[in-house]
Amino acid sequence: MNKDNYLKVKEEVNNQATIIAVTKYHTVEDALEAYDAGVRDFGENRIEGFNEKRAALPQDANVHFIGTLQSRKVKDVIDNLYYLHSLERESIAKRIEQYSSHDVKCFIQVNVSGEETKHGLKPEDVKDFVTKVSKYDHVKVIGLMTMAPETDNVEEIRNVFKQLRELRDDLQKEFKDIIELSMGMSNDYKIALEEGATFIRLGSKIMGK
Ligand SMILES: *Cc1c(COP(=O)(O)O)cnc(C)c1O
Repeated sequence: MNKDNYLKVKEEVNNQATIIAVTKYHTVEDALEAYDAGVRDFGENRIEGFNEKRAALPQDANVHFIGTLQSRKVKDVIDNLYYLHSLERESIAKRIEQYSSHDVKCFIQVNVSGEETKHGLKPEDVKDFVTKVSKYDHVKVIGLMTMAPETDNVEEIRNVFKQLRELRDDLQKEFKDIIELSMGMSNDYKIALEEGATFIRLGSKIMGK
């Protein structure tokens, strides 16, 4: 890992947000090294890597599932699933309810930029979706997640993060537990922090290429 970068980001974050070290391209040993450097939140987007990192890391580490999860695969991660950043279908919530004996903190993934390649709900569909999944006791929607558009245009990126924050503010009036914003990756986390991110997901910046 790049410990200097991690410590620098930690200072920039200044307790505003939780730093998730995305270890999806890295080994268990790399993740343990990050743990020793102080990292307590890890992100994985594949079932195997997720369960493997969970098994290897000490219990006080959180391992977040940040990738797309098919509903039929929910049972393969459920024992380790405490944070899901990609809730976008009711079938996933239904499976969580079916298989879980604990609460799962979920972020609804929102496709703010509207790019076809991106996962997530349209912003205008989020409110109905929250209402629908609120009947599942083990599904605790705590926030929203988005990915920045593929562009170098800083204002375009900022606008996407800003829209997610505004959507969160709007939902919060009705659903008081929706408070978190999972947004910002290695190339755009500074903009995300300026727009109110409470979880940033950093791969290359702190784990290295
Ligand atoms: C890989 C990944 C990241 C981290 O990407 P970097 O650009 O390496 O920081 C963040 N979020 C998700 C959902 C990812 O898949």
